[in-house]
Amino acid sequence: MADLAGETMNGGGGGGGEIKVGVGGKTRVGEEGGVGVGAKIRVGEEGRVGVGGKTRVVDLRSDTLTYPSLGMKTAMMEAILGDDVLGEDPTVNALQERVARLLGKESAAFLPSGTMCNLIAVLLHCDRRGGEVLVGDNCHIYRWEQGGIAQFGGVHSKSLKTHPDGTFSLTELRQAVRADNIHFPRPSLVCVENTHNMEGGKVLPLSWLDELSVTCRELGLPLHMDGARLLNASVSLGVSPERIVRDFDSVTICLSKGLGAPVGSVLVSSAAFIERAKRLRKGLGGGMRQSGVLAAAGLYALQHIYPRLSEDHKHVQIIAKAVNECVGGAVTCDPSGAHTNILMLTCDPARITPAQFCTRMEKVGEGEEAALGERVSCRLISINDTTVRLVTYKDISLDDVEALVKKLVYVIKGIA
Ligand SMILES: *Cc1c(COP(=O)(O)O)cnc(C)c1O
Repeated sequence: MADLAGETMNGGGGGGGEIKVGVGGKTRVGEEGGVGVGAKIRVGEEGRVGVGGKTRVVDLRSDTLTYPSLGMKTAMMEAILGDDVLGEDPTVNALQERVARLLGKESAAFLPSGTMCNLIAVLLHCDRRGGEVLVGDNCHIYRWEQGGIAQFGGVHSKSLKTHPDGTFSLTELRQAVRADNIHFPRPSLVCVENTHNMEGGKVLPLSWLDELSVTCRELGLPLHMDGARLLNASVSLGVSPERIVRDFDSVTICLSKGLGAPVGSVLVSSAAFIERAKRLRKGLGGGMRQSGVLAAAGLYALQHIYPRLSEDHKHVQIIAKAVNECVGGAVTCDPSGAHTNILMLTCDPARITPAQFCTRMEKVGEGEEAALGERVSCRLISINDTTVRLVTYKDISLDDVEALVKKLVYVIKGIA
């Protein structure tokens, strides 16, 4: 992500030409689609941040900030399309088959978002009234989806304490499963998240997943994995996604996180389950028509971006090592806990709060350009009273990482 004014912002090769096309005329911008509009919005956004034209912005707030490359946009433009509500979009069908095969399951459904995948999965597993799902208390499904499973599905949830490695205690799980009693909701499903976002992109240990599946089989409970970043887990472990989800009844993966597609998630399960999922998808308003234009981005991502996810993980290791080597202790991190493309930094709030640290990292201070050799603005997010999260993705180059590291070390050393 080079400088703000630069054409390189526009997702790599041919950027300059694309900007000219889009900016050419007001009505043409819309007509030309994402090409010109995207570039304009990005420049505008960074303008809003209030940094100068020659500032390098390294935006690590989320891996949802990926920008489709020219290759991806070309694939989208050339996709063969049909009406997917009728099951007639060949590109959507190809993506669904591809993801089902990758995960070793029978079937898959392309959906607008990961939230909708999780919602549909939970509603189908808990399809009798009075159902209850058991889920870690720091999971996306429990914390970041508006309680949609209760709001739209009337599903009660029972939370289990999330451990720092993203797992929960199987003893606690057994104790939390309620007896068959007229007073209680019916335990119906267990959900896990892999990698675990809010625990810093942790990869759930395979041995734990295996124990979990034995436990759930004994308890007679199905298993759902929110695998928004399952492919990051697979790359980190060097184990196939199929093996990781072997004992799971349903799995969600997101194409719009580190995989870099602009839109889309895929729900994977048995053929019968996916047939029901497609029915519910339509009922929820998630039926899409010529969505092959989006599925093409997903297919492109699996072919071209999946194989490079390890670079994002390497970048996190470089950042973690540099922060770990900073003396002083105002901002620290644990490199051994950084498994994938997410890194949690811990602030000593007596010296700097996470919010203050984020503000400082975004600002270009006085004398900083001279000290660092360039103006660098880094965008991170504060997630609680002590923690700042950063996420790497394909548009963050090694060069950006090196600039970020210089700035991090400079800022951390400057904290009194
Ligand atoms: C992003 C994310 C989702 C789904 O997000 P959408 O924005 O709805 O696509 C689900 N689970 C986890 C762990 C995520 O990080």
